[in-house]
Amino acid sequence: MNGSPQLLKEFKLRSTPSRKAILNFFLKKNYALAHADIEKGIASHFDRVTVYRTLKTFLDKGLIHKVLDDEGALKYALCTEACTITGHHHDHVHFKCVRCGQTNCLNVEVPQIKLPKGYQAGEINLLIQGVCSNCG
Ligand SMILES: [Zn+2]
Ligand SMILES: [Zn+2]
Ligand SMILES: [Zn+2]
Repeated sequence: MNGSPQLLKEFKLRSTPSRKAILNFFLKKNYALAHADIEKGIASHFDRVTVYRTLKTFLDKGLIHKVLDDEGALKYALCTEACTITGHHHDHVHFKCVRCGQTNCLNVEVPQIKLPKGYQAGEINLLIQGVCSNCG
């Protein structure tokens, strides 16, 4: 696994303390993180606005992507190498464990879904809820 300074360089991002801390936190946890998890995890070294801005930058650059949790809660997870500044390229399934509460990116493609005539699919979010491999 690459360290955060190298990753930041790959994505042509200047290394700042907040970027390093937040990216390291993502690398350490391998599940999707909510804004509050990140704030708590980096022990309030940075204010909300800094965390928010850093996440926005990471999203725009293709380092992290949004994960819609149940009840519409928003989380973020690290992207695979396919994502760049020009866009995100993934259509994988997300899995929420009802025991530990963690949401993970699964290396499983969202199946093709046939829509009624006249409907055009844009972004697809598929969240499966169940018991993860750690809890099962
Ligand atoms: Zn992505
Ligand atoms: Zn679990
Ligand atoms: Zn994902």
